[in-house]
Amino acid sequence: MSNIKNCAKCGKMFNYIAGDVICENCKKELEDKFQEVKKYIDENPGSGLKQISEDCNVTTKQLKKWILEERLMFTENSPIQITCENCGARIQTGRLCAKCKASVTNELSNTVKAKQQALAAEIAKKAQKPDAKSGMKFLKT
Ligand SMILES: [Zn+2]
Ligand SMILES: [Zn+2]
Repeated sequence: MSNIKNCAKCGKMFNYIAGDVICENCKKELEDKFQEVKKYIDENPGSGLKQISEDCNVTTKQLKKWILEERLMFTENSPIQITCENCGARIQTGRLCAKCKASVTNELSNTVKAKQQALAAEIAKKAQKPDAKSGMKFLKT
């Protein structure tokens, strides 16, 4: 199935597949920009978001997006402070610290487990009913 959309960056029509609504050209340009920013941060670990944005000609919004995607990492001496959304611990990239990430994953799998158990119990209950009936019938005859 083809899905034609306008590129959010250059406006060109293109065959949209998944992810950001940008065409292949802009995607490549963005990737080049990312490599440039990454190199810049490596070389200038003490620069803040605004400075990176100005020197690399990229929006702070885009920088934050890369941080959330865990693509950009910042060392401890960077002025860019990223904190865990759950506990507020200092992290290098993303939304959550390793500890909170692990507990979120645990919670998720516990929910899945609980649902599976409930479903299994229900199936067992349903399966028991006809058995009980036929058992009674068997007793009557
Ligand atoms: Zn484009
Ligand atoms: Zn945390």
